[in-house]
Amino acid sequence: MKAQTVAAHRRSTPSPIRHFALVAGIGCVGLAGACSGASQELKETTPKETQIAPEVDAAKEEVTAVQNFEIECLDGLNAAKKALPALLSLGGVRDQENFLIPYNLLLVDVERSAATASLMNAVHPDEAIRSAAQKCEQETSSFITELSLHRGLFDAFATLDTKNFDTEAKRLVERSLRDYRRAGVDKDEATRIRLMKIDESMVKLGQEFGKNIVDDVRQIEVAAADLLKGLPEDYIRAHAPNADGKIIITTEYPDLIPFLRYAEDDGLRKELYIANKNRAGESNEKTLREILTLRAEKATILGYANWADYVTEDKMMKSGKKASEFINRVVKTADKRSKRDYKELLAWKKKNMDRRAKSVEAWQSSFIENKVKSESYSFDTQEVRPYFKYEEVQKGLLDVTSKMYGIEYKPAADVELWHEDVSAYEVMQGGKKIGRIFLDMHPRDGKYGHAAQFTYRSGVAGVQAPEGVLVCNFPNPRTSEGAALMEHAQVTTMFHEFGHLMHHVLGGQRKWIQQSGVATEWDFVEAPSQMFEEWAWDHEILSGFAKHHKTGQVIPKEMVERMRRADTFGVGIRTIRQMVYASVSLEFHQADPTTLDMGKKVRSLTAKLSPFPFVEGTKFHSSFGHLNGYSAIYYTYMWSMVIAKDLFTPFDKNGLMNEEWTHKYRDTVLGAGGTKDAAELVSAFLGRDFNYEAFEKYLRK
Ligand SMILES: [Zn+2]
Repeated sequence: MKAQTVAAHRRSTPSPIRHFALVAGIGCVGLAGACSGASQELKETTPKETQIAPEVDAAKEEVTAVQNFEIECLDGLNAAKKALPALLSLGGVRDQENFLIPYNLLLVDVERSAATASLMNAVHPDEAIRSAAQKCEQETSSFITELSLHRGLFDAFATLDTKNFDTEAKRLVERSLRDYRRAGVDKDEATRIRLMKIDESMVKLGQEFGKNIVDDVRQIEVAAADLLKGLPEDYIRAHAPNADGKIIITTEYPDLIPFLRYAEDDGLRKELYIANKNRAGESNEKTLREILTLRAEKATILGYANWADYVTEDKMMKSGKKASEFINRVVKTADKRSKRDYKELLAWKKKNMDRRAKSVEAWQSSFIENKVKSESYSFDTQEVRPYFKYEEVQKGLLDVTSKMYGIEYKPAADVELWHEDVSAYEVMQGGKKIGRIFLDMHPRDGKYGHAAQFTYRSGVAGVQAPEGVLVCNFPNPRTSEGAALMEHAQVTTMFHEFGHLMHHVLGGQRKWIQQSGVATEWDFVEAPSQMFEEWAWDHEILSGFAKHHKTGQVIPKEMVERMRRADTFGVGIRTIRQMVYASVSLEFHQADPTTLDMGKKVRSLTAKLSPFPFVEGTKFHSSFGHLNGYSAIYYTYMWSMVIAKDLFTPFDKNGLMNEEWTHKYRDTVLGAGGTKDAAELVSAFLGRDFNYEAFEKYLRK
């Protein structure tokens, strides 16, 4: 629905080595060590009789739990390492039976370690296990790097006779060769060593870039409580003056977001905005330049004009030039709507703040947008909350997907869970188990703080069923004082993440792990989830579970309509803002990093695209974390939104629960996994190539 919010809860970062399809994963089933501590079942079976003092006993148990976890976590990696030599020393003709299938199983093993480590690092309640998981993750990822640059494996793939292979096996071989070449495996040894060094340095610099952002929390001082006017009461209560009579407001989200939205004092909002846009300022300009330089070097070694061309090549986008054209096209489409939104903001400012105002400043946009929404669209986000009781929403979501895809959820009986708040279900289709899902939906100390879908096992036909987990932070019915009520934005997030989960499970019935589930082009991955958000905005769907927690009254249609109208206000400026980010991301990676003036680039792109003037004294790019993970391809969110809007058209026309279409979507798009190019899957579903019509209509409304 909204690009700027979905950006915050994307699924776990795809592996930099997409070839191996090893995305962050979840673990714990059968991992006694990993599951101890929180699991009820385990607590009950832990031997109680002992002669030693309880605290010594606890310490010993802790050590054993961590050791057990390490062994279990590295099990897959060790198996893969053991299997590799046999694969390489194979004499005679290599074929599917003696090479491709064992290779597939080797990757299944590697994923077992990578996924377990990644999930446990994100969710395990015990810190010692989390750090053991980090270690396991590092070991696994260096093995993955080794595989991706392995000359012997490349040669083995290159000599495969694919004549009698079916389309999927042929595609697998082609993709593997392409990805080996993209890694630089066919270069001479000195170059390969340099490439490996570059990758290593980039990982370290990337971590440094992220750490600089997280560590640099800034703050402003507010002289007196009455300057907090406009902010909610609980916010004011939580920000009492210190011993010197000063109130401290930091750039951390829970402080920052409400302050920019509600604080009446324009000067303070400006001060906080500038403080925030200076985080990691000097240090990250330096780190970023080093990253950009290494990326440019790698692209040059591999024969590309720049990093943008390199990184887009295996995406739907294919080149930096096309990405640039796409951004321009979106800007052009959103321009009129953005100007209209901006005019409304300016009119409000003239009427209420400054009669002679000529522009709206960036630090005023959230504040004024909120005012316009409540005055002109008479919608308050608080009024729908009583209709979204957590348990009802979860049940509703399971019911909806169950009907859409002809599946059933059966509580999983014999699964050890890493925390009492986690639940697990077997996914059944026609009486047969096709996968398993885990729902870890509530916050706790030390847990991953956003919302994401983690892969635990990629489905491989005949080998293992897909297993996936949602890791979210929604209100907890077990600990909440009253009913656990959700914001509608959280409901949308939950649908979004569930979209990834369904893709993972329904697409996880393929033969090759590299074509399983969400292993499609990176810039397509968000489309199914963005589309599924539409279900959370539909009155008919909502009325199935959104009932007032006290009266039982179904959410009124009129309220949902008002909510939708309010949501569409500002979509023009939000889209343009996203395109400013996308341009920074792309153009930083097209420029020569030695001469790039980052500040100047951001300033000129803002002037060119945004209706809001550039704010002097800011260094937005220094704390734009996605410059590390996404590098040049921040455009992906808007790109998959274009496709999501088009994918939705048959449902919009025929009904969201129309079985003919939900089943067709299940089989042609989700079920196909990565067996074909995403564009082909979309065509197969729509009966034509995808286009911009629906997206343009949405922006021009
Ligand atoms: Zn997502």
